[in-house]
Amino acid sequence: MTCARSKSMQACSIQCRGINPNEDTQPHAALRYNSPMLTLTTVARTKLPDCAQSIVDNAAELAAFGWTPATSSNFSLRLDEQLLAVTVSGKDKGKLTTADIMVANLQGEAVETDLRPSAETFLHSQLYARFPDIGCVLHTHSRTQTVASRLFAWQGYVRLAGMELLKAFRGHQTHDASIDLPILPNQQDMRLLATQIEAKLGAPNLYGYLIEGHGLYAWGRDMTEARRHLEAFEFLLACELDLRNLRA
Ligand SMILES: [Zn+2]
Repeated sequence: MTCARSKSMQACSIQCRGINPNEDTQPHAALRYNSPMLTLTTVARTKLPDCAQSIVDNAAELAAFGWTPATSSNFSLRLDEQLLAVTVSGKDKGKLTTADIMVANLQGEAVETDLRPSAETFLHSQLYARFPDIGCVLHTHSRTQTVASRLFAWQGYVRLAGMELLKAFRGHQTHDASIDLPILPNQQDMRLLATQIEAKLGAPNLYGYLIEGHGLYAWGRDMTEARRHLEAFEFLLACELDLRNLRA
């Protein structure tokens, strides 16, 4: 497949940069994703302190819930069209400081820092590149998320239906609805995983996906909305697991 035939900019970016880097040399709309931003913009520099503090505060709360065991999980906020603030890898998410928040570009590369982004930063970048209205991505490894991802992996999704908390998701007005939360096979090659995720991102009103035996990605227009979506997924997944147990 050439970039001209790609269905989205991000799919194109993945193909051009990750899988067939020499395949496409013609200028096109996705080029901005192929030209790494390696210095902070004025907007990003201005927004970074508040974004970093917001990530630190929310990460501490999510860690207190027990959703970020053993230094896992990562969190990000969009700074501008091409840059995001994101947690560095390998830190206890309950004890972060703003020094543990770095800037990355839409290729998942570090910007103006010697800190190394987690490999999963690329999955955050993928979402920001694909959806201009996404302002926050939260990734957690809760026990509920991990168990549900294993239990329902065989069907490739978890159906969340008939529950009042479905109204927590933007665009949902009633409990009388359903959401199929996709489950992707786990994968250490982030670009291959991103390609598999890309195939799921066309669904309407989609605000998350599970990775099997791993955890949940949830997102929203800002931190408040992403937190609401994340907490709703967690609650609804826990309900599905409880119902399975009680009916057994
Ligand atoms: Zn993870």
